[in-house]
Order: sequence, then structure tokens, then C-alpha cells
Amino acid sequence: MVLRRLQDGENMEIYLDVDGVILDFESAFVDFVRAEYIPDLPPDFVLQKWEIGEEFKELDIEAVWNHFVSSDYFTRLGLLVDPLSFNRISGRFPVNLITNLPKDLFEPRARNLALHGLKYSGLYMAGHFDFGIDNYPTKSQVIAQIHQPGEKIVFLDDHPKNCIDIKTNLPESHVYMMDRPHNKGQEDPKWTRVNCWNEFVEKIGC
Ligand SMILES: [Mg+2]
Repeated sequence: MVLRRLQDGENMEIYLDVDGVILDFESAFVDFVRAEYIPDLPPDFVLQKWEIGEEFKELDIEAVWNHFVSSDYFTRLGLLVDPLSFNRISGRFPVNLITNLPKDLFEPRARNLALHGLKYSGLYMAGHFDFGIDNYPTKSQVIAQIHQPGEKIVFLDDHPKNCIDIKTNLPESHVYMMDRPHNKGQEDPKWTRVNCWNEFVEKIGC
């Protein structure tokens, strides 16, 4: 068997956040709140904070969250990526998705990704927000278990805390932060901000 020699930039492992990067959680959540709780929420309302409880202080956010994740809204989140370029990249490199949700939402999350025909190597539940779950893993802990020595780690997330986690614990990683309203102004020389999926694809040379 002849192994093709990898060229510069080809030996990558790509790790992607899901909400705010691949799936449009924010729009669906706002639509849900308008439909179920606050009918006069303006049509152009945009979440400015990552913590949804801070946005809707008048609501019992835990009850709203449970209602949302058991609704069809949650399994039909729209796409923020171009599925053609996504699947082209995942056909060429290992692409692992790390989503910051409780483990019991694995199946509905996988169903949402399948609805859009996205192909990927693995789906993991981890992140900076632990939902009060004991031993809920960080994203760097998950990556450390999958990572193949010598491969270049490329990481994309919209939460600065996850970007900091990766740079702190896997400092050789290449970290990109997806621009979202809630992370405006949070800059760090350790990561590269990208405005959209296509800009990320261009920056990693795919
Ligand atoms: Mg996110």
C-alpha cells in the first residue's frame, strides 16, 4: 500500500461547536419564546447574551428551556453552514462536533444534524456550561481523548470560555471564534475571529 504524502495543511483534525456555529439556536429560541410566551417580541429581536436567562428575566427560564428542548423547534434548528462545503471538508478530514448540551439531548441533536444531511466523524457533549452535572467534561478533555499525536488541531466555537479552555489545555491548537452578538468585543491574540462559515473555510485553507 502506498500512502500519499500529506501536504502542509492536510493533516488536520477539525473540532466544531454546534450552537451558534453549525445550527442557528438563537433564532429558533427567539421564535419559540415569541410563539409561546411573549407574542409582542419584535420580529427583529436578537439575543445579545449567551445566558438566555439574562435576556428574559421575566420568564422561568428553566421551565422555558425544558419546554423548548422537548419541542419540534429544537430538532429543526436552521443551518449556519453551507452543507456542501461542510461535507466536502468532513470527507477529507476528521470532523468532530462538540456540543454543549446535557447528554439526554444527544439523540434530538443528532436528528437535527441528520435532517440537514451533515456528515461528521463523531458527536460529543461537552463545554464550559455544566448544567449542574457532575463530571460534565470540558471540550479540551474530549479533544485530548480523540486527538492523534502529530495532527493539527483546528477548533471553532462561539464562546470565549471554550476558546480559552482549548488554548490553555491544548496550546498548540489553532482556535477560531465565530462572531456572534454575545461575543462582540471579546478579543484575544490566541484566537482568530471569523464572521461566518465561509470565512472559516477560507482561513483553514479548505
Ligand atoms: Mg456555541
